[in-house]
Amino acid sequence: MSYGQRIFSIVPDSEASSHVKAAKVDHLGPVPVGPLHDRLSRPLKDLRISVIDQCNFRCTYCMPKEVFDRDYQFLPKESLLSFDEIERLVAVFATLGVEKLRITGGEPLLRKNIEDLIARVTRITTLSGKPIEIAMTTNGALLAQKAKRLKEAGLHRITVSLDALDDSVFRRMNDVDFPVGDVLSGIDAAADAGLRVKVNMVVQRGVNDNEILPMAELFRERGHTLRFIEFMDVGSSNAWQWDHVVPAREIIDTIGLQHALIPVGRDTPNEVSERWRYADGKGEIGVISSVSKPFCGDCSRARISAEGVLYTCLFAQSGTDLRGLLRSEPQPDADDIARAIAGIWGQREDRYSEQRAALREQGIKKVEMSYIGG
Ligand code: SAM
Repeated sequence: MSYGQRIFSIVPDSEASSHVKAAKVDHLGPVPVGPLHDRLSRPLKDLRISVIDQCNFRCTYCMPKEVFDRDYQFLPKESLLSFDEIERLVAVFATLGVEKLRITGGEPLLRKNIEDLIARVTRITTLSGKPIEIAMTTNGALLAQKAKRLKEAGLHRITVSLDALDDSVFRRMNDVDFPVGDVLSGIDAAADAGLRVKVNMVVQRGVNDNEILPMAELFRERGHTLRFIEFMDVGSSNAWQWDHVVPAREIIDTIGLQHALIPVGRDTPNEVSERWRYADGKGEIGVISSVSKPFCGDCSRARISAEGVLYTCLFAQSGTDLRGLLRSEPQPDADDIARAIAGIWGQREDRYSEQRAALREQGIKKVEMSYIGG
């Protein structure tokens, strides 16, 4: 079966499948020069690569146990992009305008020797000659033991996902009975190692909205920026409903009752997070309002799944197989890989969050976040 015809299931529900297209290379076309722009004039600036589809948590809103159970078929090792392949891709993406790389998953710290990958990609520079900025998103479970090695390998920033401070709420949400204290130790270890740390909290009404204030207080004291993420309808298995979403405005108002907040806005138009600083100077928080206030118009992110499928939207239904291209004979050179990527980005017109209501009515099937990478 050719890659072009291959259809595979992202969720183990036989009707839920997603198309993967073969990458096309116009060998005669000019070699693309970055920065690339899509059909809506959005530049390609950020790349998120999932290095593994497995996770040691079963967060109820992301990898619910009922779906990701013992029989779930995760990708075999040989299907994952190798570090060589990832390095080759990142180097090409950098020539096309990518400035920031985020390593994610699944749980990226489960990928063996992940620090070796970080050491390799730190050598890559952006179009302006600066080193590419490298960040990682992790659930923090293995961070206490790995933080120092990650820093030494050249990781710049780390985002730790943590949805509650109350141990019983946290254990219920991760659904593997993992204690919150161990994630907090991981955060401390990362800060001690010299990594810039941010904390991400997904807020679900009736599940952990009582944790907004305790989380804000703790990280205000510890000096880490806490970012609140609206619960999103990524994938097709997390039983998402509108009324489970706590809008960013409500989160800001809740914290604002305790501590005056001043809007700062976004660092750059392409940032996902809107910043607010505490008026007393004690740091800041961020909100990611992909549901209540979509920011598709400025989305500059491409995502590559652990098996090398390129997606141009977090809510995508289909992607393009770059691994097939990388492993094809004769081996494509960097120019051909760049041509393939430029062809995909040039056609991009996704803006799911802005069209959410209409697209949900059509009942489209989307790839899972654990597969595509957060
Ligand atoms: N395992 C790593 C972690 O926990 O950070 C990386 C992968 S995880 C898919 C990346 C991020 O996506 C996490 O912060 C997680 O909370 C977030 N996430 C997953 N499902 C989500 C959803 N339905 N809505 C909003 N955020 C979600």
